[in-house]
Amino acid sequence: MSSYANEFVAKVKARNPAEPEFHQAVQEVAESLSLVLERHPEYRSAKIMERVVEPERVIMFRVPWLDDRNDVQVNRGFRIEMNSAIGPYKGGLRFHPSVTLGILKFLAFEQVFKNSLTTLPMGGGKGGSDFDPKGKSDSEVMRFCQSFMTELFRHIGPDTDVPAGDIGVGGREIGYLFGQYKRLRNEFTGVLTGKGLNWGGSLIRPEATGYGAVYFAAEMLTTRKKTLEGKTCLVSGSGNVAQYTVEKIQQLGGKAVTLSDSNGYIYDPEGIDKKKLDFVMELKNVKRGRIKEYADKFKGVTYTPLDQNSDHNPLWNHKADCAFPSATQNEINGKDAHNLVRNGVYVVSEGANMPTTLDGVKVFLDAGILYAPGKASNAGGVATSGLEMSQNSMRLLWTREEVDNRLHLIMKNIHKTCVDTAERFGTPGNYVNGANIGGFLKVADAMMDQGLV
Ligand code: NDP
Repeated sequence: MSSYANEFVAKVKARNPAEPEFHQAVQEVAESLSLVLERHPEYRSAKIMERVVEPERVIMFRVPWLDDRNDVQVNRGFRIEMNSAIGPYKGGLRFHPSVTLGILKFLAFEQVFKNSLTTLPMGGGKGGSDFDPKGKSDSEVMRFCQSFMTELFRHIGPDTDVPAGDIGVGGREIGYLFGQYKRLRNEFTGVLTGKGLNWGGSLIRPEATGYGAVYFAAEMLTTRKKTLEGKTCLVSGSGNVAQYTVEKIQQLGGKAVTLSDSNGYIYDPEGIDKKKLDFVMELKNVKRGRIKEYADKFKGVTYTPLDQNSDHNPLWNHKADCAFPSATQNEINGKDAHNLVRNGVYVVSEGANMPTTLDGVKVFLDAGILYAPGKASNAGGVATSGLEMSQNSMRLLWTREEVDNRLHLIMKNIHKTCVDTAERFGTPGNYVNGANIGGFLKVADAMMDQGLV
């Protein structure tokens, strides 16, 4: 990293203490941008990097609600409006007990570059709460969502800030949030994406992140004249992204053999076929059960509980060709990355946001495998949210084929941008540089054009 980038990262760390995930995301981008700043001193004098790491606005608020026993509960709500240089703030809401300001800042920061890569006019934002939907009744989730939106509604709007789902925020939560927004504003607008099909949603939005991550992997494979046919794939998570990753792997002839949740993971050497995936979708989306039940239901499957004290995750220690981390940040550390490479994995397409630590990323880059960072490979979700916004504005509903074709084309374009940009900046095959620089340039130029705001 250049001395300017080193000093810059040190300042960000000092100025934003106790936000390790944010530091990590900034460091990864700063390393790539060293290459850009050498060629573009004008970005340096306009302090574009210093401005890009500073959210345009942070909203933090109290979310009080009553549980089913009529006890008062208090959670914390956030919305980070990070950058609006190329469009309204756009990015998901995460409901998980681990949510902090630093985690949402890292996610909002990543979102800025990701949204730029999609080529759609969307700025970057992220929000959420430390509320845990697990184990809550539908009425409790509804009361929480209504209280959350009672504050958030005044900060968002279809031309200002358009939230969507993320961990813990699926169709049910988006429904309750949208209902309350509509009631407060007396407006039916596309203020949230991931809506139900009967009330402004887009076909393929639920599938988009997972499908997109697999389309991206397929594109990477074509650079080595290969396809997904017959490839063994490790997938983590068992939520929205993981489920549709497995579905698309099946459709393209691959075999997914693992899934996980925060308690442990299953390994099914026979592969997760359509029938088994239907079981997972019912288990996770309707019954809201645990992935362990998969091993109880199907023969030949092993379940391994999560060991918090282990220095590695055994899910990443199986023979395979491809890996699709689709649960959460930092789920692949340096040791896991070594295990993956040693076991023959040569394609890693991140469905989750920043699932690989900086050590792990280095292992992948040194090994010269096809490694796609989440801001490129999981951009299909937000891209299809952008398509949902377009359909809302036009008051139209595109067919499944139309949306899927557009998604596929967007993923191909993002892949091309990454490959071309990495090459242009002297690091061919480095998708990390390709994604960071490709996403940054458009935002930086828009910020230059718009003056000091
Ligand atoms: P879901 O809530 O649907 O699923 C999350 C899955 O990851 C669950 O299986 C969950 O297990 C597991 N998980 C969550 N937190 C942890 C943790 N701390 N440790 C271990 N496992 C964990 O979320 P999504 O599928 O939507 O999101 C998954 C990832 O993809 C996230 O990183 C998200 O930011 C990213 N992403 C999502 C997009 C989308 O469109 N939904 C778009 C782009 C990126 P459990 O049920 O036990 O908590």
